[in-house]
Amino acid sequence: MKYVVWFSEISRDDIPIAGGKGANLGEMTQLGLPVPPGFVVTADTYWEFITRTGLKDAIFKILRETNVDDTDQLERNAKRIQDLILNTRIPTDIEMHIVEAYRKLCNEVGGGKPVYVAVRSSATAEDLPEASFAGQQETYLDVIGEEEVVKNVQRCWASLFTPRAIFYREKQGFPHEKVKLAAVVQKMVESEVSGVMFTASPTGDTSKIIIEAAYGLGEVVVGGKVTPDTYVIDKESLKIISKNIAKQTWKIARAPGGKGTARYEIPEELQDKQKLPDDKIIELAKLGLKTERHYGHPQDMEWAYENGKLYIVQSRAITTLKLKEKVEKEREEEIKGEVLTRGLPASPGIATGPVKIVLSLDELDKVQDGDILVTTMTNPDMVPAMKRAAAIVTDEGGMTCHAAIVSRELGIPAVVGTGNITKLVKDGDIITVDATKGIIYKGEVKIEKEAELDLSELPKTKTKIYLNLGVPDMAEKYAKLPVDGVGLMREEFIIATYIKKHPLKAIEEGKAEEWVDKLAEGIAKVCKTFYPRPVVLRFSDFKTNEYRDLEGGEKYEPEENNPMLGWRGCSRYYSPQYEPAFRLELKAVKKVRDSGLDNLWVMLPFVRKQEEVRKILEIMKEEGLERGEKFKVWIMAEVPSVALLAEEFAELVDGFSIGSNDLTQLVLGVDRDSDMLGRMGLFDEKDPAVKRAISMIIHGARKKGKTVSLCGQAPSNYPEFARFLVEQGITSISVNPDAVAKVKKVVAEAEKELGMEN
Ligand code: PEP
Ligand code: MG
Repeated sequence: MKYVVWFSEISRDDIPIAGGKGANLGEMTQLGLPVPPGFVVTADTYWEFITRTGLKDAIFKILRETNVDDTDQLERNAKRIQDLILNTRIPTDIEMHIVEAYRKLCNEVGGGKPVYVAVRSSATAEDLPEASFAGQQETYLDVIGEEEVVKNVQRCWASLFTPRAIFYREKQGFPHEKVKLAAVVQKMVESEVSGVMFTASPTGDTSKIIIEAAYGLGEVVVGGKVTPDTYVIDKESLKIISKNIAKQTWKIARAPGGKGTARYEIPEELQDKQKLPDDKIIELAKLGLKTERHYGHPQDMEWAYENGKLYIVQSRAITTLKLKEKVEKEREEEIKGEVLTRGLPASPGIATGPVKIVLSLDELDKVQDGDILVTTMTNPDMVPAMKRAAAIVTDEGGMTCHAAIVSRELGIPAVVGTGNITKLVKDGDIITVDATKGIIYKGEVKIEKEAELDLSELPKTKTKIYLNLGVPDMAEKYAKLPVDGVGLMREEFIIATYIKKHPLKAIEEGKAEEWVDKLAEGIAKVCKTFYPRPVVLRFSDFKTNEYRDLEGGEKYEPEENNPMLGWRGCSRYYSPQYEPAFRLELKAVKKVRDSGLDNLWVMLPFVRKQEEVRKILEIMKEEGLERGEKFKVWIMAEVPSVALLAEEFAELVDGFSIGSNDLTQLVLGVDRDSDMLGRMGLFDEKDPAVKRAISMIIHGARKKGKTVSLCGQAPSNYPEFARFLVEQGITSISVNPDAVAKVKKVVAEAEKELGMEN
């Protein structure tokens, strides 16, 4: 067996010994690309190490005894295995193979002096060479010296046993013994200039190459932290067609002393200069062309320029997401039109039409088919007019406000939170709404629509994909989508569009039965259309301000200073004023289920305390609705108390659905309806604190063996967010109809990378 192989000795067929990453570097080296030199400590070396030291039996014994659904036990045992690997001395002869290879590398590129290297995990799986294990690819940068290199190879080996890696192998039914780990040891490039290269224009135009370049290490370009130079090259003539030089005031480079990185100011005279000279641009484009031809697909490559020499650090097929970002950037540059204002892109799509301003409810009839509804803020009574509109534009509101959510369910383009649209236009003005970007143009402007994904070609996913759907009229249209059911049916939408009357008024008028029948009818419509797929009905989550406009609402909805934090969701159901109305909601559910539609499950919104759940379950029982094999009761996880006490809440119910809209509002203390905070970017589901809370909920639920879903806007607005949810182990994701295809694709890709595919 070979303990160590050099990049020049391997190719893409060598995944079994070098892992995916190692084999790819080998292939690129074979192709003649200037890959920073290095070697791979083979998967066999790892195997030899755990066999000769007797660790193998100990490791697999611990794994056999681990129940991966018990998070504490999983974490404890993963740590035990990692400690075993890290604290066991590598047999001297094996160690010497690694040390000798490193010395050789130092001789070749450092003139005998120790050189900085990156040590990267490169996992492999017997019999399944194509399996990808991206979840466990640990990388250690800025490693120097023989001892450190050996130590970091050992750390890579240990990284095969992180709790997450164990969990996914187990979940996928992948025998642990079949997965091995190679370690790549590669010279670090200390680049003066670096960047990315796409060998096809993101619009799908394969005749162009796009290069982006910035000073310093590549992470600023890849991470989008600075605006790079952009060079466009014609593939056939290899001529530079355009250059866009961006000002760069700071960069990232190796920190003094060599460990880690630091931020440096760029001297003023260099800030506006072209980062990469023309001849190097052409040289790079040629390398890109060569790589694309070799692999047969357009490539997304990372490159670095050090001491006058170009290196190719990474090359992979262009992913759809990267493409999309670039398409959007280019689209915006190409569109010629006078921008009136901008807002938040709440519901995607493009429309042109005459403006109809609606400032009070009696103006609703003005809105005819094809008009653009312009208003300060929508409310539930406007839904019939919203349905007729070609697009909706509002002054107020954030990405998760009423107008945003309803427009997406109705499939109507909407831009919210412009701050001023009602002041900028008058009835009859023609405007064009690009709700995919959140831009309003004066007059008619031609904007190309994004190509839609082909639903028939969507991959299957293990993570269930549900739909957010509360407007029953839309059920038939969306039932054809490849979804596993309805993950969020907001009951208050049915009440506002179907019944329009406040339940307490119906009781007062002696018309409670009629009210129940109407609600049951709306719910049944969705359940029937989706049968046998589950439909999760969320009991009403009235906010006093939004729903005062229901018939009779003023009498029953108190004026509150902070309705978002007020008498909403669960707190109503057991309070004496609303309990009789809650019982009507329950009667409607019972009626639908008794009619044979047993795919109806329920969910409690805005849960603050465990005690509330207990009380409500009791009331439900009195109305003949008890949790069971065929009747699931979930709670929404949207108040941070549920994240902090996830395990305790899990004891009470069958599952959770994370409401990222309210959770973000409450973790960050940002009013989700505020257009100002929204435009400032403060309402951000991707904030690490929000993600931490989400992760706590998922882990708490899983630990207790409960289902955990997410039904807020986050993955619909940012399909990449779904990747994070899959990594955390979510069971299902519920999204808006227009987001199904994109989210499904991202989920499938993430599952593949995590080795979770079917
Ligand atoms: C949420 O808070 O994320 C949610 C889905 O509920 P709503 O948007 O109706 O408050
Ligand atoms: Mg909510």
